Amino acid sequence: MSKEEKRTELSDLGEFGLIKEIAETVSNSNKKTVKGIGDDAAVISGSKKNTLLSTDMLVEGIHFNLAYCPLKHLGYKAVAVNLSDIYAMNAIPSHITVSMALSNRFSLEAIKELYEGINLACETYGVDLVGGDTTSSPTGLIISITAVGESNNETVYRNGAKEYDLLCVSGDLGGAYVGLQILEREHTVFKGNDQAQPELSQYPYVLERQLKPEPRKDIIEFFNKENILPSSMIDISDGLASEILHICEQSQVGCTIYEERLPIDQETYKTAEELNLSPTICALNGGEDYELLFTMSLKEYDKIKDYNGITIIGHITDKNSGANMVSSGETVIPITAQGWDALLRKD
Ligand code: ADP
Ligand code: MG
Repeated sequence: MSKEEKRTELSDLGEFGLIKEIAETVSNSNKKTVKGIGDDAAVISGSKKNTLLSTDMLVEGIHFNLAYCPLKHLGYKAVAVNLSDIYAMNAIPSHITVSMALSNRFSLEAIKELYEGINLACETYGVDLVGGDTTSSPTGLIISITAVGESNNETVYRNGAKEYDLLCVSGDLGGAYVGLQILEREHTVFKGNDQAQPELSQYPYVLERQLKPEPRKDIIEFFNKENILPSSMIDISDGLASEILHICEQSQVGCTIYEERLPIDQETYKTAEELNLSPTICALNGGEDYELLFTMSLKEYDKIKDYNGITIIGHITDKNSGANMVSSGETVIPITAQGWDALLRKD
């Protein structure tokens, strides 16, 4: 009998573990490849500026539920999350391609609605849709979008954070997750009683954060205008804690953040409490905010201190100190990632 083959469960590895394993099998030899697997986007050198390339896939039932995510919003969001990865490299996206696998549940009218959202996002962010691929799927909808862009100034990676740098985030956090909890709550009520009217009108901000995220083009333009070069940057797709750990690991540093400095919108705060969720945990682990997390040297402080929409949440420390949060009660808590990991779901 043949020796039993080794089998490692993907659910034991997690998404980041799997990506690490894949990266070890890949070796790039084209001299134009500046950065392959491992950051928000790949970097390809051009004659003057770098080209950035990133792709993301959304799967029905995993990333979205059409029961409460209108197709137009889904199209917008699918583009937005891709552009966010290009901005996170300090670059400006220019083109996308869109690939889809569709079941016969979808009509032309449904696909047109999806493309209304895709086209609106392209228009909003000045990006052209230049191609894609279409195939069938046995059940649901899968959308994969690839975005390409050009570096703005210098490319900013996840690995450049230095001890004493400021750790900053754009916008506010936790809203998208809280919005999802409201949508799921109302969907459950609706499933139990189809006469029920969903109670959504009190939550405009968190629902918008979940259904129509806006990548932070404005922040990248501000950096360009003020000649600010972050030392490292990442977009917040999986949750602040998870992204902080990526920066710390890749930059070989530690950090301290302060709970009381986490930017949380009032509606997010109130709604989290209504749902019996900790606003801090929503901000740390919620994900899907598509804000930018970046570090910069102290000498840039004057340039950002008055910008409305950038919050300094802490600073970079040496690696041995680890990644920690000082709670409002002054306790030091190690930061652990409990954010979104597509492969750790066992349901
Ligand atoms: P993000 O959350 O910013 O979209 P990911 O965590 O999805 O980033 O990906 C991290 C890195 O791993 C990126 O460089 C991405 O291109 C790469 N990557 C993800 N999945 C694969 C795969 N199946 N094969 C090769 N590289 C991958
Ligand atoms: Mg990213």
